[in-house]
Amino acid sequence: MKSTFLQYPFQEKKVLLRVDFNVPLDKKTLAITDDTRIKLELPTMSHILNSGGSIILMSHLGRPKGIDPNFSLKLILPYIQSIFKDIKVDFADDCIGESAQTKAQQLQPGQILLLENVRFYKEEEAGDRNFAQQLAKLGDVYVNDAFGTAHRAHASTAIIADYFSAENRLFGLLMESEITQANKVLINAQLPFTAILGGAKVSDKIQLIENFLFRVNKLIIGGGMAFTFIKALGGNVGNSLCENDQLDLVKNIMEKAKEKGVKIYLPIDIVAADKFDNNAETKVIDCYEIPNGWMGLDIGFKSIRYFTEVIESSKTILWNGPMGVFEMSSFQSGTSEIAHAVANATKNNGAFSLVGGGDSIAAVNKFSLASHISFISTGGGAMLEYLEGKDLPGIIAIQKS
Ligand code: AMP
Repeated sequence: MKSTFLQYPFQEKKVLLRVDFNVPLDKKTLAITDDTRIKLELPTMSHILNSGGSIILMSHLGRPKGIDPNFSLKLILPYIQSIFKDIKVDFADDCIGESAQTKAQQLQPGQILLLENVRFYKEEEAGDRNFAQQLAKLGDVYVNDAFGTAHRAHASTAIIADYFSAENRLFGLLMESEITQANKVLINAQLPFTAILGGAKVSDKIQLIENFLFRVNKLIIGGGMAFTFIKALGGNVGNSLCENDQLDLVKNIMEKAKEKGVKIYLPIDIVAADKFDNNAETKVIDCYEIPNGWMGLDIGFKSIRYFTEVIESSKTILWNGPMGVFEMSSFQSGTSEIAHAVANATKNNGAFSLVGGGDSIAAVNKFSLASHISFISTGGGAMLEYLEGKDLPGIIAIQKS
């Protein structure tokens, strides 16, 4: 039986910790503009240090093409040192090689060593075995806590695990929690289970829809992707976003849903605009009768009421993608009301709600509802692939026996 993070004896161990410190930096000053990713890592780091281990931090930052000071992890060293004020935080200006090895060897329990950006080597993204082995030499135990890159078979996120025995490769607390929470919607979800899918394109969400047709009772489709469904049903979508090459696929999804007894909820009315602009002229009209020259940029009141009823009677809710162009204030109310419905179902009905995918997270934060959602994934693309039912290389690498 593999040990979990909290069971592992970290005393005197040098822990090679793969983190996602790919934080956004100000273009001019190179200062950290959002420290969420680092803050999320603190429980894992604190547990290792409090258990008598030392930490070798390994991360990527941005997409450098070779060595580039604008993408150096040294830029975040002062921030890490400011959090761990009483601890020595050292920096290795190469993530492999003699100097990194010497610094790792000299590391004492309770100390931290930050390695330079692993993506300064093209071998990282290539998943090079030799490079992974060089990195692996630095630590006694490998902990992967970078859920955001778990869908990549890179050297430091997946391949490296092969150089540690099964007991000495583990998930960190952040990764454990992402997997546990996602499994609540993938395995044995409480019913009724509703998935709310929105955003721009059906083609981006096909696999997600197909995977969840086997799991949910109800599927709410909003946002730009709803218009491909509406057109497939014979509606006029005017100048709304619509993927004509996906019409057959969408018809097929609707047939499959019928066979499986999954009810698909589409908008009834929409807020139509005469141009893609916050100051456009708008009118609320029937979804199936959008005149040419007009485009649907948000869901209307009837749709909001219709969707809200479904959401507030659900026990499990997965939400991915906004209901409209919520970035513009004229078209945000559909997304705002749906976010409130998800929060209400969680608060008042004891539903489990999981929000995943960049834009729905931005929406939940914009309407200050994060504390009323059961779990907000930080995983982005990795969470989307996990929910699509794919095996993620970063997860498999740790779990295999
Ligand atoms: P996604 O990344 O696929 O979740 O898409 C998110 C984007 O979809 C956001 O930037 C929204 O502005 C956009 N979006 C949502 N609804 C619509 C719509 N009705 N028409 C055009 N874009 C939309």
